[in-house]
Amino acid sequence: MLHVGLTGGIGTGKSTIAAMFAKRGAYVLDYDELSHYVVEPEKPAWRDIVDFFGPSILREDRTINRPRLGEIVFADADKRRQLQSFIYPRLGEEYARRIQEITQKDPNAIIMADVPLLIETGMKSMFEKIILVYATREQQLGRMTARNGFDLESATKRLNAQMPIEEKLQYADYVVHNTGSLAAAEEQVEGIWNELVSLSRQKTGTP
Ligand code: ADP
Repeated sequence: MLHVGLTGGIGTGKSTIAAMFAKRGAYVLDYDELSHYVVEPEKPAWRDIVDFFGPSILREDRTINRPRLGEIVFADADKRRQLQSFIYPRLGEEYARRIQEITQKDPNAIIMADVPLLIETGMKSMFEKIILVYATREQQLGRMTARNGFDLESATKRLNAQMPIEEKLQYADYVVHNTGSLAAAEEQVEGIWNELVSLSRQKTGTP
């Protein structure tokens, strides 16, 4: 298998680009979805969190009240670390389980992890190749306000909490410049996909 990381800043069009790779046959693993999955009610990470923070962080349907938990951990670095120590190992286990499931089915799979903060969280060494989705800062802000209904101030705040996209460029093996039309992005995806396929064939010795 070939293990690729896909990242980008918020609003660069990462999910849109991930879908283009999926259409071509990539197995896309969505890290956000995974991190929600491991804290679903009664899952091991959920139990650890409720034991530690108490039932007051639960909603009536027993799901975790994320904004409330967020308030607690953003005000207290020790609690934040504690929360991470409940989530990260479970996330790793679930990730490994999904990779195993895919490679059992398809040993030549191209697995693409869609990870928003891949570079910030030091996950780079997990992957053989890194793809970065790039858009200008103005485009990021524009797409965030149009899609999520953020006002400019909260969009700017969120953007400023991430590593600037220009700085991320140096870590990428491939860049999708999502600064033009979707068709222009699709063309770049096609080129990168072909390279990934040939890399994966080289690895497995498939002609
Ligand atoms: P991300 O996952 O990076 O936050 P999304 O893929 O959800 O971003 O894209 C954010 C918004 O921008 C969506 O509404 C999407 O349809 C739009 N978008 C993405 N790429 C383009 C593009 N090349 N041109 C115009 N709009 C785009």
